Amino acid sequence: MRQMIAGNWKMNGTLAGIAAYAAALGQGVAGVDLLICPPYPLIGPLRAACAPGIAVGAQDCAVEQSGAHTGDVAAGLLAEIGASHIILGHSERRADHNERSALVRDKSRTAIAAGLTPIICVGETLAERDAGEAETVVRAQLAGSLPDGFTGLVAYEPVWAIGTGKTATETDVQAMHATIRAALKKQLGEPGETMLILYGGSVKPTNAATLLATPEVGGALVGGASLTATDFMAIAEAA
Ligand code: PGA
Repeated sequence: MRQMIAGNWKMNGTLAGIAAYAAALGQGVAGVDLLICPPYPLIGPLRAACAPGIAVGAQDCAVEQSGAHTGDVAAGLLAEIGASHIILGHSERRADHNERSALVRDKSRTAIAAGLTPIICVGETLAERDAGEAETVVRAQLAGSLPDGFTGLVAYEPVWAIGTGKTATETDVQAMHATIRAALKKQLGEPGETMLILYGGSVKPTNAATLLATPEVGGALVGGASLTATDFMAIAEAA
């Protein structure tokens, strides 16, 4: 199955940097789906600058479709300016904005109705892992965050591996992805059998090949290393 390499720029990137970044991605990498999720104002410019085969997405959206919600951004508008995908329930949203799984589920419904493909993030903290609760936490996040009939992708991002330089071991990743696969099958039936499960958390050119060859890993969600086009391309080449 084709893997997806998705870049999450978080609150980074500039309008001035778009042209060089898009030029460095060129036509992308054959056989691999590439997606870049920049901050909202850069979605349109990046869509215009990148080759049509490279997807552009958002990092969040409002739960409502429109209306009096100052500062929020509607999923329909994101689709209109060229987003095809949307990251939802990232651990930084869950922590910084107190986003609960029920809200992630509702945003996911809104995004799907607007024609966007959600990437729902799940993952345990270090304290939860140390307490032996990692699988329970992730299963609960999946049960709470995925609406009935969910179509999209899931990303497993252990919170302790995000931006820390610490990557989960192959064994940990394989075990958690198997847990997620079992939960997806139970929750969604047949679509859960083939849904891509991305791994995220300090993915770099140096560890990408190993992580991407791990069973049940359907691609990577890349933060820091997606900010440099050459690193991002090196990760995609490893898929
Ligand atoms: P990182 O971030 O690659 O910088 O660890 C991953 C993410 O948060 O999506």
